[in-house]
Amino acid sequence: MTTRLTISLALLVFTFTIVAQSIKSPEDFLGYPLGDQFTFHQQAVDYFEYAGKTSPNVQYKTYGRTYEGRTLGVAFVSSEENLENLELLRKNNLINIGLLEGEEAGRQVPFIWLSYNVHGNESVGLEAALKTLYVLATQSHEGVADWLKECVIVIDPCQNPDGRDLYAYRYRRTKSVQPNANPDDWEHHEGWPSARLNHYLFDLNRDWTWQTQAETRQRLSLYNQYMPHVHADFHEMGATSTFFFAPGADPWHEVITPWQHEFHELTGKANAALFDERFKLYFSKESFDLFCPSFGDTWPLFNGAMGFTYEQGGGGYSGLAVVRETGDSLSLQDRIEGHFLAGLATIKVSYENREKLTSEFNAYFKSGLTKPLFEYESVIIKGNNDHAAVKDLLELLDRNQIRYSFAGNVGKTYTGFEYLANKNGQVTIQEGDILVAARQPQSHFVKVLFEPDSKFTDSLSYDLTAWALPYVYNLDAYALKEIITPKTGEFILTSAENILPDSKPYAYIVNWSGFDEVKFMTALLKQKFRIRNAMKPFTVGKQEFNRGSLIIARGDNKHLKDTFDQTIITIANTIGVHLYPTSTGIVDKGKDLGSNYAPLKSKPEIALVGGEGVSSGNFGELWYFFEREINYPLTVLGTDYLNSVDLSKYDVLLLPSGSYSKQKDNLLEYVREGGRLVVFERAISLFAGEKTTNLFNAVEARKKENETEKKKTKTDDPSHLKKYENQRRERLKERSAGSIYRVDIDETHPYAFGLGKKWFVMKMSANYPFLDEGNNIGYILNNEPVSGFAGSEFQKEVKNSLVIGSERMGRGEIVYITDDPYYRAYWKSGRVLLGNVIFR
Ligand SMILES: [Zn+2]
Repeated sequence: MTTRLTISLALLVFTFTIVAQSIKSPEDFLGYPLGDQFTFHQQAVDYFEYAGKTSPNVQYKTYGRTYEGRTLGVAFVSSEENLENLELLRKNNLINIGLLEGEEAGRQVPFIWLSYNVHGNESVGLEAALKTLYVLATQSHEGVADWLKECVIVIDPCQNPDGRDLYAYRYRRTKSVQPNANPDDWEHHEGWPSARLNHYLFDLNRDWTWQTQAETRQRLSLYNQYMPHVHADFHEMGATSTFFFAPGADPWHEVITPWQHEFHELTGKANAALFDERFKLYFSKESFDLFCPSFGDTWPLFNGAMGFTYEQGGGGYSGLAVVRETGDSLSLQDRIEGHFLAGLATIKVSYENREKLTSEFNAYFKSGLTKPLFEYESVIIKGNNDHAAVKDLLELLDRNQIRYSFAGNVGKTYTGFEYLANKNGQVTIQEGDILVAARQPQSHFVKVLFEPDSKFTDSLSYDLTAWALPYVYNLDAYALKEIITPKTGEFILTSAENILPDSKPYAYIVNWSGFDEVKFMTALLKQKFRIRNAMKPFTVGKQEFNRGSLIIARGDNKHLKDTFDQTIITIANTIGVHLYPTSTGIVDKGKDLGSNYAPLKSKPEIALVGGEGVSSGNFGELWYFFEREINYPLTVLGTDYLNSVDLSKYDVLLLPSGSYSKQKDNLLEYVREGGRLVVFERAISLFAGEKTTNLFNAVEARKKENETEKKKTKTDDPSHLKKYENQRRERLKERSAGSIYRVDIDETHPYAFGLGKKWFVMKMSANYPFLDEGNNIGYILNNEPVSGFAGSEFQKEVKNSLVIGSERMGRGEIVYITDDPYYRAYWKSGRVLLGNVIFR
């Protein structure tokens, strides 16, 4: 026994030395100890690549590029044998959970995925990843050799390289020779826009389900090829906080299994052990809940894995060192240690529980085939919905590995939950309707995304409380208790295919029905087409056309000469828009094509305001909309020089949520001289406080009403006194925690064309009263949201409030949009509204 032990120990030391010598430390590679400097992203890529080439325990794999062209990549760290069989292990894992067809062969080992720096300015991430890779690759920590034999560890050093590099460059630019720990120093103040975000200023940790951004799409495409059993996402919070690890806070979404709960507890204890040894402070079970599917902990949980958020106290503000309010100093080295320890604890617990980890993981997916948790068996999405919205939804389902088919049982009628009506209704299944069945490997995730309202045990949530997909896309859809048979055969969505007509049409008409038509219109405008918009519905032959339908008349476009027909057909076919050629300007019902009710439009010049004072999120979405959704030229004007720009050059000026008091006079002048100013969310307050607007009068009138109301309810009853402890909960009464409200629409207004009679909005912010003079285009008539949580005081305020409104001022117009219509760029139904407001 003793001899064997000595021999194994000798072997262990020998192996350790060989492996340790085979790879340089980050310090030797970079030329400075970790924590002495912020490493540029490319240097980290070089080190990961180097480790992949040098260490037999590391394989480096790139998975894409960021918008700014930086490399995205991960390192697989495991035993040589596992790495040689990586493809087999990968497939085996997918076969075990039913996401890949085939016969199971050999072992199933846990994949443990560690992801860093999704928020660019939570700057410790990449540094901690370098240390973790080195220690694992060189097996220079107790237990690592065993871990690598039984597990595959995946390290993504940086999920958001563009943000992270922005932080590192800015920090190095402002850094003193000796880092200045005084929080007043400019080292600790990064400026606009925050490096937390990616190129388009999106928060990538709110993008997991939605995958609107290139970084997320590419990362999750890789993730889905492996389906890890554990995913840990490493963040930072404010410098005054200590360290957060599992278990997560309430609310937990109800699909999270008892085993996932238990594993959270185990991981918390393993972390606590390492932190206690070093007298490091921490907390668990508070602030970071597990409810909304947008995040790097919940999305993996809903995909069967153990999902964790780790939060180190620090963040971009902390630089290399910062003195905290308590007087002690926090260094980058301290922050690296926190995340390094959390990484080790995560791997250790996963290793120790590896068998249960894989068997419960398999059970998570298999149980969905026989025992779905969703109270409905089938979701039917009507085939006659707007085709752009349907395409978007199916793309989202593909990206989340949720299966769908055409629905069978055609001709049969069912009673079920009708999403848009928010109550039970009847549906007759027709040819082309789409079925999402609850019984499938991703069953639990189907429930999360399609349940009309998710149950929460606590309304104090970190983010949204509602996201049911039919509201997001404004789709006519039904949840049924019956099992609907899928239609067999290949799933192909038909797309419009137009051919060049034999004779020259008088005009082409396009029915205004959704976002594809917006894209088509902007593509034509870019090609200098002149287009008419029908203000009233009309009929040609048997074909009915909605308000807003596009009339592209040959007579309006003589300047295009022979290219007219072919350009229209090519663009329509590329986008998938159906063209209706007509040989006459006379219509069968409604106004003729050349009517005054079908005014002409040509290419507008558009500017978007950005810079200090502007909400980066709302700005980023609008920027993204122009660049990546409609590919239309846009000029961005900075708030710092806006007052010196000749605004009269721009037909439309977009003012994202933000504060613009310094630019107010110029903005008002722009409108009076004939400009169209589109104002979003918080930016509206500037105009609500401006005496010359109609909005001001409406707001003042409501204030008076509220004051009278308050006087009436004023009471000396001591039962109304509020406890200090309940402060946060009391404030909740005044908020909407990301709930969904139904918006009633004035369909006759050009800004509402194509939205239908009702639309849905993610309600977050202030409630404005109706306008007495001006247009109330979209408004909320109910207290209660259709889905999610809104506080009792908020509910009183939201009833009879404005969502989309407009008023004339001088020769121009101000358009108010009180809530983000294109929320985080996944609220796709808002794109038609943006198209209407910007291009009409
Ligand atoms: Zn973060």
